[in-house]
Amino acid sequence: MKILVINAGSSSLKYQLFDMEDESIIAKGVCERIGIEGSQLKHTPIGKDSVIYTEPMPDHVAAIKLVFNALLDPNTGVIKSMDEIGAVGHRILHGGDKFTESALVTEPVKDAIREAIPLGPLHNPANLMGIEACEKVMPGTPQVAVFDTAFHQTMPKKAFLYALPYEYYEKYKVRRYGFHGTSHRYISKRAAEFLGKKPEELKIVTCHLGNGSSLAAVKYGKCFDTSMGLTPLEGLPMGTRSGSLDPAILGFVMPRENLTIDEMTTILNKKSGVLGVSGISSDFRDLEAASAEGKERATLALDMFKYNVTKLIGSYAAAMGGVDVIVFTAGVGENSPGLRLEICENLAFMGVKVDPEKNNVRGKETDVSAADSKVKVLVIPTNEELVIARDTQDIVTAAK
Ligand code: ADP
Repeated sequence: MKILVINAGSSSLKYQLFDMEDESIIAKGVCERIGIEGSQLKHTPIGKDSVIYTEPMPDHVAAIKLVFNALLDPNTGVIKSMDEIGAVGHRILHGGDKFTESALVTEPVKDAIREAIPLGPLHNPANLMGIEACEKVMPGTPQVAVFDTAFHQTMPKKAFLYALPYEYYEKYKVRRYGFHGTSHRYISKRAAEFLGKKPEELKIVTCHLGNGSSLAAVKYGKCFDTSMGLTPLEGLPMGTRSGSLDPAILGFVMPRENLTIDEMTTILNKKSGVLGVSGISSDFRDLEAASAEGKERATLALDMFKYNVTKLIGSYAAAMGGVDVIVFTAGVGENSPGLRLEICENLAFMGVKVDPEKNNVRGKETDVSAADSKVKVLVIPTNEELVIARDTQDIVTAAK
């Protein structure tokens, strides 16, 4: 079966076409500036050069149509007919508290994604547009929704509840949901497989460190706690997000800077994190380069990031009553040996020890722990698209 995986944003749409016979990617691409002047599609048939299409894409339906034109193109295409695509899997940001796993798209499922729009105002409407565009362009092809929040639904109430008046939880479902769930699920399972153990035997801290970053405490195969909250703003300082802070800061800064709550929220999401502290960049490569050149605030931003990851790993070890495995993934986690080494050196008190030689690896599944480390430290490249494709295949096959 061929499966199309779609990650629809408000003005972009990324896709990958998988051949599930061998789980290979046949083509991938991204539509950018949907609904904005100058929209373009970059389509890459694997093994061939990328092609750029610069046709207008006023909406997601137009974008999906263009994706199909590219996939079917006699020169640069990879399929002969749309019927070759057996199903579509969509990445959905927020499933509220309704979904503990991926789901076949039905009207009630779409209603639930719609209901969660207040919780994911930037992503859920776009995710829904992606689903509806596919329904229009390829009616009859089954679609599956894979939620970033689903894996975290096993958290106990003491971990997901905020210490606010209880009625906010009852009335508005204000609680921790957590994100990057597809990634935390994949790397925690892979970690167990890699070590030849069952997930039920292990206490794992999964560290998804990218532009957006989150940690999860995965106890015996189930998520026990995670650092992102009601929205992806909570937890670690990130590329441009502040992460956790004293909520009173808002009331202190806003009148002094004459900011509305929307403006403040934008600053917390887009202008804070390592970008805000360094004043240089949100990109960790830029920061590592700037730090090496002696730029103090780049060094400070990196130090803050590493310090917060270290602290959180320690607290998750305490929360689970120990930790057997620490897994690093995503852009920074997979590609920055120095950052991994420093974090782990600070965890030496827990018996964490990295082998500097083995740790000198980027983007490759590797056990980087020293032979005498009490805790295994693994690098496992994440693959959210593959998990979406697998879930989609499983659900569509079971529904037949
Ligand atoms: P997203 O959250 O957007 O999916 P990624 O997981 O792709 O992000 O991570 C992007 C981050 O990974 C960027 O800050 C980038 O600088 C960082 N990164 C990528 N390669 C390296 C590298 N070799 N060394 C340090 N950081 C890297």
